[in-house]
Amino acid sequence: PSSRSPAPSGAALHILEHVFGYAAFRGEQQAIVEHVAAGGDALVLMPTGGGKSLCFQIPALLREGTAIVVSPLIALMQDQVSALVEAGVGAAFLNSSQDMDTARAVERALYAGELDLLYVAPERLMTPRFLDQLDHLRDTGRLALFAIDEAHCVSQWGHDFRPEYLQLSILPERYPSIPRIALTATADRQTREEIAQRLNLQHARRFVSSFDRPNIRYTIVDKDDPRRQLLHFIREECASEAGIVYCLSRRKVEETAAWLQEQGLKALPYHAGMTQETRAEHQTRFLREDGLIMVATIAFGMGIDKPDVRFVAHLDLPRSIEGYYQETGRAGRDGLPAQAWMAWGAQDVVQQRRMIDESEAGEEFKRLARNRLDVLVGLVEATTCRRQHLLAYFGEDAGPCGNCDNCLHPPQTWDATEAARKALSCVYRTGQRYGAGHLIDVLRGEPTDKVIERGHQDITTFGIGSDLDEKRWRTIFRQLVAREFIAVDHERYNALRLTDAARPLLRGEAEFHLRLEREKSRSRSKRRSA
Ligand code: ADP
Ligand code: ZN
Repeated sequence: PSSRSPAPSGAALHILEHVFGYAAFRGEQQAIVEHVAAGGDALVLMPTGGGKSLCFQIPALLREGTAIVVSPLIALMQDQVSALVEAGVGAAFLNSSQDMDTARAVERALYAGELDLLYVAPERLMTPRFLDQLDHLRDTGRLALFAIDEAHCVSQWGHDFRPEYLQLSILPERYPSIPRIALTATADRQTREEIAQRLNLQHARRFVSSFDRPNIRYTIVDKDDPRRQLLHFIREECASEAGIVYCLSRRKVEETAAWLQEQGLKALPYHAGMTQETRAEHQTRFLREDGLIMVATIAFGMGIDKPDVRFVAHLDLPRSIEGYYQETGRAGRDGLPAQAWMAWGAQDVVQQRRMIDESEAGEEFKRLARNRLDVLVGLVEATTCRRQHLLAYFGEDAGPCGNCDNCLHPPQTWDATEAARKALSCVYRTGQRYGAGHLIDVLRGEPTDKVIERGHQDITTFGIGSDLDEKRWRTIFRQLVAREFIAVDHERYNALRLTDAARPLLRGEAEFHLRLEREKSRSRSKRRSA
């Protein structure tokens, strides 16, 4: 691969067809390819599966010399390199999985000008030895471009922060004339700005693709009997189709897969605790066989390229909106109708918050993790279009979609402001040191031993909530916790206390609406079983 002419779009198309075997560019690919091939910097925001790789692979082939691709994930590196080599492209990678001899052989190939693309881990790129080699390439005019994949890893606000990525700011200083393209699939507004700033790409052209996946129908239901609900969903909507069911724990993965098998469905488990061989076998079966259901932890899915996954179900809350978007995004890659279904309960929120609290992470990280969880709770509790919420998170304005549960069956809500105020006031009057059970007894005016013992039959909130039954009150407390009007103190037997957010509600400056969903579905299923 020696002298190549600069990039008329005909050349890009020629490579697309003859090297990669595709007939046409998708979305913004062509504009990005031409911009970078002509030496421009770019910041590319494109959802997973959108086709980011070609955006730097084709310019790499169009420009003189070797493109350096920074990638944090060894598995992804290896996949891309084998695909490129198979297509006849000179490509290799350098990372910690290699022995010394292999690495030296790659360096020799780089030196000899045999590589169009070289994938490196960021920590590898930053070694003095490697930078020397890059200097040499630059000085001989054989440094084609830098591609920084998974660019959100530079963001501390994001969930995959990698400190090594921060050092990539050295690239524009040391190699100012070499074009850089940063790519990511996860970028809310804040992350976007952070990437631009930290990688010194403020002046780079931005290519922002829509994150909308119109063929995916979003449905989020209240957890009642989650396995049964899942089974019902699969049988009614996705019978005999391939799908992924995500669970939080390995044990739940095993149990759910076994249970689905007992119900006569073709299901397999997948999690990081299984042997390498079993995992590989299950993954291969999922890719090859029709209508297989993979029950998995989030260890499964990265880099899985199966276009006809018809549904992705969550039996537990994902960790964040990004997580939800990435995981549900594995459905319907072929563009045909697909479903994202989730069952959630307020208990999940409490559990995840506890996991964050008890983790070893620093305070700042925990604060961000809680924040991400809250944003997600905002989505699951939404009473308006799910897609609108999801896209707003990625900075896109959209109207109601007509293809989510809330659009198709607008949820009934009730104004629970008065009840919420009573609950908050009861928390306050009893000294912010009791759990929901006792508070409900006080609200409902139950003279239990504990109530009498503490003298709570004499406070003003005693009995002011007798109009609602215990179940209703449970829901109200759960939602007050989920929306952070109340905090749970796990160290003190789950005692509830007010947060700052409670003030406007107590003062009558905010309203509190709840979905009616749960009650409705209960009475319906009762009627059916009666
Ligand atoms: P991303 O990195 O954005 O997740 P990839 O680059 O891995 O996406 O591409 C996703 C899939 O789409 C791959 O199977 C890729 O081969 C395919 N693809 C990308 N661009 C095109 C195109 N122009 N035409 C057809 N298929 C494409
Ligand atoms: Zn909608």
